[in-house]
Parts: sequence; C-alpha cells; structure tokens
Amino acid sequence: MENLKLAGINGHTAERTIITVGKVRIGAEFVVIAGPCSVENEEQTIKTAIQVKEAGAHILRGGAFKPRSSPYAFQGLGIKGLQILEKAKKETGLPVVTEVLDPRDVSWICEYADILQIGTRNMQNFSLLKEVGKAGKPVLLKRGMYSTLKEWLNCAEYVLAEGNPNVILCERGIRSFETYTRNTLDLAIVPSVKEVTHLPIIVDPSHGTGRMSLIEPMSLASVAAGAHGIMVEVHCNPGEALSDGDQSLPPSMFADMMKKIEFINSCMKKINTLKDK
Ligand code: PEP
Ligand code: MN
Repeated sequence: MENLKLAGINGHTAERTIITVGKVRIGAEFVVIAGPCSVENEEQTIKTAIQVKEAGAHILRGGAFKPRSSPYAFQGLGIKGLQILEKAKKETGLPVVTEVLDPRDVSWICEYADILQIGTRNMQNFSLLKEVGKAGKPVLLKRGMYSTLKEWLNCAEYVLAEGNPNVILCERGIRSFETYTRNTLDLAIVPSVKEVTHLPIIVDPSHGTGRMSLIEPMSLASVAAGAHGIMVEVHCNPGEALSDGDQSLPPSMFADMMKKIEFINSCMKKINTLKDK
C-alpha cells in the first residue's frame, strides 16, 4: 500500500508496535477491554467495572460523550461521566478508554482518559485525528463503517504523522445488505491488517454484531484470527442500559466467555510456536 510512510510495514524498520498502558502491553498479549457502552451513573459504572475486573478484563471502556443517531437519544454525561470513570479507575486499577467527539475537547479529556477512542463516525474527521495525534495519548481508531482498509490506515497515518506512534486499530463491523446483524463483522481484516501494518488490531464484537448471543462466538473467532484483543460491551443490567443493551453482555456471561478466551488463546500460542518451527 502506497503512502503509508509510518503505518506501513515496509516503511517501518522496527518490529510490531507494542503500546504500554499501565501494566497492559497492547500488541504483545491478548488484551480485553470491557465495560458499558455509556457511563450512565456512578453505581452502574463502578459495579460493572468491578465485575469485569474480577473476570479478568485489562482495560475499562465507557462513553461519556455518545455519538447517537438521534439528537434526542441519551448523549452521555460529559464531564460528570469522566469523573465517574476516574472513580472506577481508582476503585479497580483498570486504565480507561473513552471516546472523544470534538477536537476542542481533546486536551482536557486527556486528563481522564488513558486511551482516546475515535468512533466509526469520526474515522475521517481529519481535524480530530490531527488533534489526538498531538495529544500524546494512545489512540483507539475504529474503522469507519463504510471504509476500506486503505482509507482506515490512512487515518492512522494522520495520527502517526503528528508524532503519536500509539495507534490501536479496531474492527467494529461494516455496513452490508445484511440486516439480521447490526453490522457485518469483517474478521478477514484482522490478518489483512497484519500483512500491511505493524499497528495492533483489536475487534469489537458488540458493535460488529449488535447481538448479545453472537459476542462470544465472534470473540473466540477473533482470537483464532490473530487479533491482539477485543473490546466488548458489558453492563451490570443490560435490560436497563441507556444505550446498546442488546449487544452488552451481563457480567456472568462475560466471565464465562473469559475462561473460553483464555483456553483458545493458549491453543493459539501453541499453534504459533508450530508455525515458527
Ligand atoms: C462505542 O464504542 O461506544 C461506539 C459508539 O462505537 P462505534 O463508533 O464503533 O459505533
Ligand atoms: Mn455502544
């Protein structure tokens, strides 16, 4: 792929990018990011954070600024949500990833976030990409729902070109003619990404399918496809979630899934040692 001066595997002399966030090394070991779609209140967020931590998650997710299709839907708690995330981080020790929607908010959101998330609708918001590129925090860049691999990697390039080498790519499903699932999770993109860039790639099976029942099989498939991690929506009570309850796991299902992930991850490690021989 041309013009990927920094993101491309050819233009990069070093090994694959490993991004260290607290004790977590994204790109080196399989990383699980979990938490609610939205920060709704302190009790819901802290309860969920403790439950995902107990089940073995490495990073807490939670949106304080929500990019909703309708202007009348819950838009997130804003700064109050970030303060709740700060408390959840103190309580659990988990680093926090949260979405930033507006270039004007990047610098102050950095005081609360360990990783800045760029959502699918903003993948090609170039002024936002430049701003997070200057911010010096790791960036989780979701794939645009209508974007090719090349377009996506060019967006990563925007962040890298500002001097920020820490970009994590996140496949979250693309729009197709299928309506049973909310999006079509493109798992073939995982090994494809690894062929052309040194950046880590994770998978979001919640937005990628829109269905609670499909999260576990797609998470296990993500491990087998060679992803560096997953990001999953978990809610202490999905039936009452203010956003994306249909694609959020209750903590018990998340804990069950984590055991299976550990198992398939150990199988993949064995398979990878066979490949090296
Ligand atoms: C999210 O992760 O909360 C989110 C809004 O995802 P996406 O941008 O992939 O729709
Ligand atoms: Mn969501």
